[in-house]
Amino acid sequence: MNKLLLCTDMDRTVIPNGRQPEHPDARPRFRQLCALEGLRLVYVTGRHRQLVQEAIASWQLPQPDYAITDVGTKIYHLVQGEWREMLPWQKQIASDWRGKSHDELQQALQFCPELVLQERSRQNDFKLSYYLPLSANRKKIFTAVENQLTQLGVDASLIWSIDEPEQIGLLDVLPRHATKLHAIEFLQHHLGYEHHEVIFAGDSGNDLPVLVSPIQSVLVASAEPEVRQQAQSESQNNGCAHALYLAGDNFPLGGNYAAGVLQGVLFFAPQMGAQVKLS
Ligand SMILES: [Mg+2]
Repeated sequence: MNKLLLCTDMDRTVIPNGRQPEHPDARPRFRQLCALEGLRLVYVTGRHRQLVQEAIASWQLPQPDYAITDVGTKIYHLVQGEWREMLPWQKQIASDWRGKSHDELQQALQFCPELVLQERSRQNDFKLSYYLPLSANRKKIFTAVENQLTQLGVDASLIWSIDEPEQIGLLDVLPRHATKLHAIEFLQHHLGYEHHEVIFAGDSGNDLPVLVSPIQSVLVASAEPEVRQQAQSESQNNGCAHALYLAGDNFPLGGNYAAGVLQGVLFFAPQMGAQVKLS
């Protein structure tokens, strides 16, 4: 039987809110794909739950079966429109912070004036998020932050990405295992999918750990060239080049946004992808 766990980033991956144009058929075909029997859709995003719901409504995106939100710190199961948080996941990532609270970590990182705390709605128990100007000395700041966290015994990862429209850097301090990658692997095992039955799609920095992992992944054509190069070289270094598909510009619908996701599904799961009529 054909089954597929399709995990996709939202902003600038299936939401066409980047600089490149979107083909008018891209999202209608994507909706068709997601309605296929045997396909489970998972949104994997930096957005929190309410912003995910707003995006689904305003961009006419299909309803997901699961949502990995807040850059991997929360997983929801949608059951008949009801969002149920998966508590085993919270429990699993909590151990990385060794009992330290969000506020305690925030206080410990106050030594760095360039780090400006993001809005309350973008924070949660296991997500400490900052704005950082693109002009700041990232390398120096990241090293100092890492040292400080290590001293506290906290096992964290720093995830850097750029909000292109706003031209500001975003730094997320997360439990080491609260990444998009680990959250997808958790769902994959929890739901019993084999490697060849999982596909991920993304476009930017916080998608990279998945893009360069053994998980079958597609980088949409609308991604920044810098991300494309990094994804290519890191996946090669990891011996995972075969699991990375770079969407091209041709295809009947181009490769930007949802059209790139469709390309990836056609590449990795042709039996599933071929069920979508492109014209
Ligand atoms: Mg994105």
